[in-house]
Amino acid sequence: MDLTWSDEQRAFRAELRDWLEPNLAEWRQQIGGSEFSGDTRQGVAQQLAWERRLYAAGWSAVWWPRRYGGRDGTLWDWLIFEEEYWRAGAPQRVTQNGIQILAPALFELGTPAQRDAVLPRMAAAADLWCQGWSEPGAGSDLAAVASRARAVDGGWVLDGQKTWTTRGAFCTHLFGLFRSDPDSQRHRGLTYLLVPLDLDGITVRGFGRLDGDEGFAEVFFDGAFLPDDAVGGGVVLGEPGRGWDAVIATAGAERGLLRSPGRYQATASALIELAAAAGADRQSRRRAAEAWMKAEAFRLRTLETVTVLDEGGAVGAEASLAKLWWSELDIELHELALDLLGPEAELEGPWSKGHQFALAGPIYAGTNEIQRNIVAERVLGLPR
Ligand SMILES: Cc1cc2nc3c(=O)[nH]c(=O)nc-3n(C[C@H](O)[C@H](O)[C@H](O)COP(=O)(O)OP(=O)(O)OC[C@H]3O[C@@H](n4cnc5c(N)ncnc54)[C@H](O)[C@@H]3O)c2cc1C
Repeated sequence: MDLTWSDEQRAFRAELRDWLEPNLAEWRQQIGGSEFSGDTRQGVAQQLAWERRLYAAGWSAVWWPRRYGGRDGTLWDWLIFEEEYWRAGAPQRVTQNGIQILAPALFELGTPAQRDAVLPRMAAAADLWCQGWSEPGAGSDLAAVASRARAVDGGWVLDGQKTWTTRGAFCTHLFGLFRSDPDSQRHRGLTYLLVPLDLDGITVRGFGRLDGDEGFAEVFFDGAFLPDDAVGGGVVLGEPGRGWDAVIATAGAERGLLRSPGRYQATASALIELAAAAGADRQSRRRAAEAWMKAEAFRLRTLETVTVLDEGGAVGAEASLAKLWWSELDIELHELALDLLGPEAELEGPWSKGHQFALAGPIYAGTNEIQRNIVAERVLGLPR
């Protein structure tokens, strides 16, 4: 593994850095200086303006081919992009679930026509995608999915309910898992569908999180007819009845590369500044240094993952190790920040909001208990 950046990569970083600072300032001026969370209606509207700015300048999905709205870059460019993006204090991406979770599955299993239809609009934030996997009776046990898709002439009829759909109330499309063979069990007989949310028979009901943002939705399907051509290139990702293949393709990306090291490095650097400003005692300084080193370790680990992918390998069950690391690190970083702030933490915005979101890290993208099961069985080869 070569840890030095090439001249082109350094130039890419410099170009991005030069672009980010003035454009962030302009966008913040455009939205009047008060920035809302991307899990609120106002925040999504603000961030769509930001996303379109990113897209227009070619920064939306740097590692995608240009024809889909990318920059013909590599995953290395993505890592650099993320480092600079978070360092500059840019907002969380409201396009993330499409760009980071659905797109890798489309690259692996989608048809050229599907990619042509879906990816450019995703990159341009013309369509916002949400993930419709979890149901009231299927979370960790995703193979228990009960929402149904019945094949009919010219399309599918959908019934059932999804829940915990991040930003569902603000999205235009959902990618989700439906049972298409009523006699099937577990991970067989499932179909992965691309669904516009404005179809008759679909009701999206937003609901609040612990922090008050309307970040989640429940999505109800009551005999909704999904025409085969509702999404250009067709609505089935992969093959009908083989939706689990797409789940595997998606889950690897979500656990392994959804969260970039740049995000935690930026938080760790902010923590070090906070510790210095607060005149932290010896023990807190030690905790801050340890957390910073863990962020750095995550960076090195990700460089290794990207090396494997670059050489044609795949993200396997090891993605679960990354998920455990970033989710636990995020809590550690925020807990120390709150300790340093003391009672002021109640009044302080970003660290305390960040802490509330960090607490969800061990739950979403598959709970950490499940990741530990995967590591035990599939990485370490321990018995079930
Ligand atoms: C912030 C956030 C965003 C989310 N966004 C989305 C989204 O966009 N789309 C979507 O589809 N879902 C989303 N989810 C849902 C998330 O994927 C589920 O909450 C998660 O998979 C757990 O499922 P569950 O809530 O049904 O809990 P359960 O599966 O009921 O689990 C309850 C508890 O039991 C433990 N447990 C269950 N089975 C086992 C086992 N075999 N071994 C050991 N422990 C076990 C779990 O670890 C957990 O602690 C989101 C969740 C959060 C918190």
